[in-house]
Amino acid sequence: MEVLYTNTRDASETVRASQAILNGLAKDSGLYVPTVIPKLDIPVDELAGMTYQETAYAVMSRFLTDFTEEELRTCIARAYDSKFDTPKIAPLVCADGAYYLELFHGATIAFKDMALSILPHLLITSARKNHVENDIVILTATSGDTGKAALAGFAGVDGTKIIVFYPKNGVSPIQEKQMVTQRGDNTLVVGIHGNFDQAQTGVKQMFSDDGLKAELGAAGYQFSSANSINIGRLVPQIVYYVYAYAQMIAGGEITSGESINVVVPTGNFGNILAAFYAKNMGLPIDRLICASNENKVLYDFFSTGMYDRNREFILTSSPSMDILISSNLERLIYRIAGEDAEKNAYLMNRLAETGKYMITTDMRRQLGTFYGGFADESETAAEIRRLYLDTGYVVDTHTAVASAVYQKYRSETGDTRKTVIASTASPFKFTRSVMNAIDEKYDAMSDFELVDELSGLAKVKVPQAIEEIRNAAVIHDTECDVDGMQDVVKKFLGI
Ligand SMILES: *Cc1c(COP(=O)(O)O)cnc(C)c1O
Repeated sequence: MEVLYTNTRDASETVRASQAILNGLAKDSGLYVPTVIPKLDIPVDELAGMTYQETAYAVMSRFLTDFTEEELRTCIARAYDSKFDTPKIAPLVCADGAYYLELFHGATIAFKDMALSILPHLLITSARKNHVENDIVILTATSGDTGKAALAGFAGVDGTKIIVFYPKNGVSPIQEKQMVTQRGDNTLVVGIHGNFDQAQTGVKQMFSDDGLKAELGAAGYQFSSANSINIGRLVPQIVYYVYAYAQMIAGGEITSGESINVVVPTGNFGNILAAFYAKNMGLPIDRLICASNENKVLYDFFSTGMYDRNREFILTSSPSMDILISSNLERLIYRIAGEDAEKNAYLMNRLAETGKYMITTDMRRQLGTFYGGFADESETAAEIRRLYLDTGYVVDTHTAVASAVYQKYRSETGDTRKTVIASTASPFKFTRSVMNAIDEKYDAMSDFELVDELSGLAKVKVPQAIEEIRNAAVIHDTECDVDGMQDVVKKFLGI
């Protein structure tokens, strides 16, 4: 059965999977959603015997129905290889009775790698399937983390080039070092003399510049983006929930058909939406626990039915969750609005115009499977410390938000169902916050002293991604003014 993708804001637009991946965003800023969620018609015992790559094929082939078996298997093999530091790709670690699903074993030691290591292959395959012969040029402005994950994903992928702009004085020294040491002839990293907004505006201008588009086309190139709302990033994220469940079966932790809960530290709502899709495929998930930090727009939404972004933006120790507009929530809103594009478009326009919207009682009733919780900065730090002291297991700040919310959920509801906590970053990525949470004495140490200290304390080897920053040579030293961004792009592409 072919799965098609329709626009959440315009019911008249329906495309195939490869077109949805190639387009990224649908018309009128809508998002692509599958018109049906395919069933996971594979016996659990069979799933329990599968590798990560086999699970990926089982899940993704049901969504990306216009890819041939060979195309999809090739994409999967190229994505989930030795870039990951464990053959399990996403191992499940039991600590204090919960199951931490470690999504941080890829190139940049955070969960974005799970999708960004396969997106380039899906994108280039989609281009060829749709007779796009141009090379794809990814343009990205980054305030830090996404830039590196995209660079690592696209580096060395034939038929693609990637150019990342970052504010020269606006990212952390470690983030800068991660980017400027990126290898790969098809990569370019540029520090701009300006802030993140200016970098982003410059990129948007290039995307909408018809003259530039024509010049690019004549030279055999076209722009694309690796945005987090691309269906090519969402579908690969469903895989690890199925894999986690299968691993629990294989390990005798649960019996076939037994339901589990899932807790997800949430920002843009992409990761938890993937868990929701896994549930809709038939995976026995009971509650979906949405964990927020102090930017608790989603907690308020689940408790009141009102989404309201009009509030102070708070900088926390879990920066990847510092978000006031969770773009992927639109896909859930569309769903609970009865897959009514008009109703959804109305609410999204309210959001754009007033910064808020209220859903109906009927829509709220369909959210029963979700539980919203949040943890503030001190609760997050306390959870890192508690877990370490009780079990020796060290989690990062984002995972700690989820873990703290799970503790609250359990004491509030008494629900003792087996629970998977999505662990979205290595503690080595947020070493200072993690070590300070464990003991204030670490405050005086340098960043790399802390890395070694954490390694000893957690009994975990320092990840390759961190060793690289310590030793690797700087490869990229291009800088430019805000109005010189286009020239840099043209020079790199030789046009
Ligand atoms: C991006 C990110 C999140 C949030 O995931 P969403 O899919 O945006 O909800 C959580 N933790 C880390 C470490 C991340 O990088």
